[in-house]
Amino acid sequence: MIEVLSGDRCVDCDICVEVCPTNVFDAVADDHPVIARQADCQTCFLCEAYCPADALFVAPLSDPAPPGSGLTDEAALAAAGRFGEYRRWLGWGKGRTPGSSRDENRFFTARLRALQEETGP
Ligand code: SF4
Ligand code: SF4
Repeated sequence: MIEVLSGDRCVDCDICVEVCPTNVFDAVADDHPVIARQADCQTCFLCEAYCPADALFVAPLSDPAPPGSGLTDEAALAAAGRFGEYRRWLGWGKGRTPGSSRDENRFFTARLRALQEETGP
């Protein structure tokens, strides 16, 4: 189940909002999205795999982690290298440069191109 969205790591791309199949996140104007409906998370790990900044941690539990669990402790998770762990297991993001032929994150590329069209290169 989704447990942590790291504000320190997040680049506000809203890809997690776009890819989550059960609409767990809410976008926030000019800020990071929020985990608005944790109970709707189905632990599919898609958000973690797609996040271009390794800012999400999905715990391998089908229910929320108990209070005080290390699975909700952002600093401990970061120190243990748990952010983006599932993405690395999948092999996504190797040599990731948005828009390059090796970019395997089509949502990030599409979002980047839309931003470039809005703001110029
Ligand atoms: S996909 Fe990652 S970087 Fe983008 S908004 Fe969500 S948490 Fe932030
Ligand atoms: S793990 Fe799946 S269902 Fe849960 S928040 Fe991420 S994308 Fe949504």
